[in-house]
Amino acid sequence: MTTIILKPHKEESLKRFHPWVFSGAIARVVLDAAHEASAPQEGELVRVESSNGDILGVGHWQIGSIAVRILEFGVADLPQDYWHQRIRAAYRVRLSLGLLNSNNNTFRLIHGEGDFVPGLIIDVYADTAVIQAHSVGIHYCREAIAEAVVAEVPQVKNVYYKSDDTLPFKADISGMKVGYLVESGKPKVESEEFWSKENGLEFRIDWLRGQKTGFFIDQRENRALVERYASGKEVLNMFCYTGGFSLYALRGGAKHVDSVDVSQKAIDLVNANVAHNFPKATNHTSVCADAFEYLSAQKTAGRTFDLIILDPPAFAKHRDAVKNALRGYQRINAKAIEMIRPGGVLFTFSCSQAVDKEAFRLAVFSAAASVGRKVRILHQLHQPQDHPINIYHPEGEYLKGLVLYIE
Ligand code: SAH
Repeated sequence: MTTIILKPHKEESLKRFHPWVFSGAIARVVLDAAHEASAPQEGELVRVESSNGDILGVGHWQIGSIAVRILEFGVADLPQDYWHQRIRAAYRVRLSLGLLNSNNNTFRLIHGEGDFVPGLIIDVYADTAVIQAHSVGIHYCREAIAEAVVAEVPQVKNVYYKSDDTLPFKADISGMKVGYLVESGKPKVESEEFWSKENGLEFRIDWLRGQKTGFFIDQRENRALVERYASGKEVLNMFCYTGGFSLYALRGGAKHVDSVDVSQKAIDLVNANVAHNFPKATNHTSVCADAFEYLSAQKTAGRTFDLIILDPPAFAKHRDAVKNALRGYQRINAKAIEMIRPGGVLFTFSCSQAVDKEAFRLAVFSAAASVGRKVRILHQLHQPQDHPINIYHPEGEYLKGLVLYIE
């Protein structure tokens, strides 16, 4: 195995279990005698040592500023049953959280660094697990991961691999393709019969054509909170995607729900989900439109709402986009606050990892101040328990939300 030797004192963060080795921390790379190439290859398993020869751990080599993502600390090699161990441990956590019951079979099984497996996301929808690799190393392990998931998680009968938009340097990876790694004969997403349950509501989840792994499980708890506020309300669900918040609002007794998304595919899914769960509902409208244009048009028409949900895509995908993102959050929140009736509520979110809690709150504060309403914070929301934050890797905190009462 290739050994990566760090510069003096650069082992400190690894000793505190932070899983990333930055390229600037590396003193030397020692290839083993059998190594075919003259440098480590992206995705290969490497051993990391301190300058005085202490073994720090093993991880996947990457090209870029993060050079190694550590899979296991303090060992010279991965145990034979590594994937089984990690998936078993993660599954045990989900079981203890009560996420598998007659009302719910939708959950995140592995949340990257949050489950001590950098680069790996696994979401489970009923009997199908969807694997997403965020590193080439994980891509190479996909078959072993799929085998371990089926062995360790009894409900899983199909494993779908979907990494076409998450892998760096994907052009260089031979055999990169999306598709089933494990497949049973049961109805899957292609079938009208496939539904995945979240808190008793049933969703059609399209991992083949949908965004990310097909569904945003991370809003489960926050959707349940919307349900508690929805009774008798006129609700506007902006950036609705598959209509998660809309379904909870309908179940909570909303007077009317408007769902808005710029993607027609998303709107088709919302309509299918509403029709399946509330076949008699006449109080839901879906609109395919750009959020900013839609809000402006509604304002011109003099429309107001009791409850608005703003759950936009990450406005800042990188650190250097933060300033523009904050301006975007401020603008859209100001537009929403203006349209809330006195005594109404705004659920507002940011899933940009690069925008921290304080910065997001400041953007919403500026929005409120620019509109000049009296605004109270009722709840501060975050990602749910099946998207855990590794205590040694605070960068894993990405979803934040505020529930505001607007006088
Ligand atoms: N709230 C959703 C997840 C939202 S994901 C849930 O609970 O599942 C973000 C959504 O915003 C995506 O569906 C995307 O199509 C939509 N979107 C992106 N840009 C948009 C825009 N300018 N106007 C309206 N929708 C947009």
